[in-house]
Amino acid sequence: MKIIKSRYNQRINVIFALTLVIGVVFSSLVYWRGVEVSSMTNELITEEIPNYELLRSLANNMTEQERILYEYYADDETERLDEFQDMVLATNELIERLVREFGDIQPLMKTQEASNSINEIGLEFGENMAKNPTDWPLARVQLKEITRIREEALPQIGLLLAITGDSVLKSENLILNDLEQVRFFVIGYGVLTLIIAYIVAKAFKAYLSSSATSQRLALFPMRNPNPVISIDNKNSVTYRNPASDKLLTRLEMSLEQVSELLAPDLKEYQINVLSSENKTSESFQFKIKAFEFECELHWHEDQQQWDLHLTDITDRKKAEYELNFLAFHNPETELRNQYQLARDVDELYASDTNFTLGLFEIRSFSQLIAGRGIDTATQVTKEVSKSLEQITMAMCPNDCCIYHIGEKSFAFLTTIYLNNESIHRLVADMNKKIAGTAFSCQSQVQLDYGFSLAPEHGSSYTDILKNARTALDTSARNDDIEQILFNPELGARLEYEQQLISDMREAIEEEGFELYFQPQLSLKSKKIIGAEVLIRWNNKGKWISPGEFIPLAESSGLIVKLGDWILRTACIKALKLIEAGLEDLVVAVNISPKQFGRSDFLDKVRTVLEETGLPPRNLELEITEGVIIYNEEETIETLTSLKNLGVMLAIDDFGTGYSSLSYLKKFDIDKLKIDQSFVRHIQTEQADESIVRTIIDLGRNLHLKLIAEGVEEIEQLEILKSLGCDEIQGYFFSKPLPENAFVDFVSDHKE
Ligand code: C2E
Ligand code: CA
Ligand code: CA
Repeated sequence: MKIIKSRYNQRINVIFALTLVIGVVFSSLVYWRGVEVSSMTNELITEEIPNYELLRSLANNMTEQERILYEYYADDETERLDEFQDMVLATNELIERLVREFGDIQPLMKTQEASNSINEIGLEFGENMAKNPTDWPLARVQLKEITRIREEALPQIGLLLAITGDSVLKSENLILNDLEQVRFFVIGYGVLTLIIAYIVAKAFKAYLSSSATSQRLALFPMRNPNPVISIDNKNSVTYRNPASDKLLTRLEMSLEQVSELLAPDLKEYQINVLSSENKTSESFQFKIKAFEFECELHWHEDQQQWDLHLTDITDRKKAEYELNFLAFHNPETELRNQYQLARDVDELYASDTNFTLGLFEIRSFSQLIAGRGIDTATQVTKEVSKSLEQITMAMCPNDCCIYHIGEKSFAFLTTIYLNNESIHRLVADMNKKIAGTAFSCQSQVQLDYGFSLAPEHGSSYTDILKNARTALDTSARNDDIEQILFNPELGARLEYEQQLISDMREAIEEEGFELYFQPQLSLKSKKIIGAEVLIRWNNKGKWISPGEFIPLAESSGLIVKLGDWILRTACIKALKLIEAGLEDLVVAVNISPKQFGRSDFLDKVRTVLEETGLPPRNLELEITEGVIIYNEEETIETLTSLKNLGVMLAIDDFGTGYSSLSYLKKFDIDKLKIDQSFVRHIQTEQADESIVRTIIDLGRNLHLKLIAEGVEEIEQLEILKSLGCDEIQGYFFSKPLPENAFVDFVSDHKE
């Protein structure tokens, strides 16, 4: 900065000196010319112009003298003579003065002579005029003589005037010339001054702006909102800017504690900089109290000094953390998400650690959303997540983690290598906890489970997750808690099921299914009052049980198309049976929850009845309690509309579904089908008998018909009869039969 300043001083001094020299030269020139003009003007004024004036007065006087005499001649007034004599005196005085000025030059001498003659003749003329009588002719001669003399003298005065006028003109020209030069000098000096002023102003402006820049640069650390600290090579603080003071205050530290703003491991970074050849700076992050800073460390070799620029990155770090949190956590439950699971599992594989992976899924979640709305469903996932955390934390507080990996899906990861027994214990605990929790959906929530063990069941995240899912899907589909731990057979099973689904798809297109009829018997009238339609599938020569393919049809969505086919075919066949003479026969068709849950289900039933012409009262729809659990209102609406169509409604597998029985009052149902699991051991198990008895009592109270299914033994039939059951269905009476066999059976039974 100093260098810049002295350079400018030098320049300004040169300009100043130059301006001074030029100024002096110009001023001297102007002065010298001024003096010259003044002396010339003086001469002109004091000498030449008065002479000129004297000559003009002389000429005038002479003319005046002549005029006075002529007037005297004309008016004969004697005072004219006095006037004339005054003039003579004045004229003589003028001539004397002129002689003193010009000397006795010829024209002046001649003029003096003429003047003397005029005076002389004039006086003679006066005497003549005073005579009485006046000699008038003489007077006229005298006057003429005077005129002649004056006229002869005039050129001499003209000559003198010309001489004087010439010198005046010359002097004037000289003065004007000199004045012109002065003007030129003044203008020149003015222009030069302007140019110099312009140069000086420009130089000054450049100086000002450069000095402002350097001043600003000097103020940079002062105004820098971030702390700047300089330290010497012994790490003692030599400078700190105001922002550093502010920071100390914010950190509730005294100004003397400035050295605490240096990172604890500063030395390491300094060594880094000093030991590398072309490195002069280093950037690193460190913490002071709860604040995080980024420090840029600069080494100034020439000054043997370090500069540290600190930036408070606490907020940025927080934002980064939040972003990171969002990327790896579920925003609803704040549990770690599927990406975090993948990272953690990969890490376990990388460190050759054995682990157990569990998958938990909320059952019938889509129905929960449809029935209770997405907000309640989300709330339920939060409640489930809390329960899961509590149980797993109680089990292995330091070594397990719950993840929320999908809308309804959770994962459980522990490095404890669980065996089959401990997995079942864990699941039992979870079910207990879940069953005891009051959820916002106000109904029971159930979970499906699947587990896999690493490395036994997979050597990558994808494999281990896929296998846990296989276990979960298999267990859920078969409602079999025994299948929650993966085993290689389950994998094979999955493949088989995939194949079956694809075969099923083909069979639907090619109508490869058949419908069987299982007769239902009225215990009172001993008559066949109806038949349950049961689907049969011979896939490539092998009978596949509906217990196997119906769940697959449901999970793959094929059930909708298949269900449509069953309903239509069942109606067509039922009409045939009615037309064959079984007018009162009621054909019971199983309706899957997925089928029932479709918004167009009611229309489909109506259309099928219309198109096939089957009287509605000959059709019974078997639905399970599963359709009712969540979307109660919609279910009521659909069931009421179905009832209004005239079809019969039965609750299938009654007693196995949901504990709440209150729904029964809300629907207009015709029949309860007591599940075969209660019938199976009714003759031996007191509990089963009690349950059946309760169901029958309940049905009675609600004026519902009761049918028991799976009746195989006469003893079972007897008990059911004694308990007041209305109808039975089961192998004891008849297995499900193909259409023709059923017709034969019915006609045989009549006899
Ligand atoms: P479900 O609706 O409970 O059907 C009764 C099941 O019990 C039938 O098995 C039937 O053959 C069997 N059964 C009848 N009497 C006895 C008996 O005395 N002892 C024993 N042990 N079993 C008896 P199926 O035909 O294998 O059907 C199994 C399940 O598949 C059905 O259970 C039903 O849920 C489903 N299903 C069958 N056909 C259809 C259908 O057309 N549509 C739908 N959606 N599901 C169907
Ligand atoms: Ca059924
Ligand atoms: Ca059943």
